[in-house]
Amino acid sequence: MHELSLACRLIEEAEKVLEAEQAGRATCVTVGIGKLSGVEIDAFEFAFPMAAKGSRLETATLVVHDLPIRVQCRICEKESNPDFPRCVCTHCGSEEIELLGGREFNIESMEIE
Ligand SMILES: [Zn+2]
Repeated sequence: MHELSLACRLIEEAEKVLEAEQAGRATCVTVGIGKLSGVEIDAFEFAFPMAAKGSRLETATLVVHDLPIRVQCRICEKESNPDFPRCVCTHCGSEEIELLGGREFNIESMEIE
């Protein structure tokens, strides 16, 4: 499962932070997952406890932020949040857009003790 290896990578990253902070364990971890990241949130939530087993995140609460697609239009210069998979400006319908967000897959914050 793709999400399991992603979860494992995330745990590794979190463990490094805990190490640097000399923290005992994480009590809560917030992960941002963009709509265009290709990560299935359900599958990720399912995989997380398996990946966290035996780590300092084993008992941490997982909070997932489902991040929208954010684009800036090159024509009308407005920002919008188009629905996946139609990446167009929702104001004028232009496809001349720049992607500002939606590919995220990272730890947003972590509560440690
Ligand atoms: Zn536009």
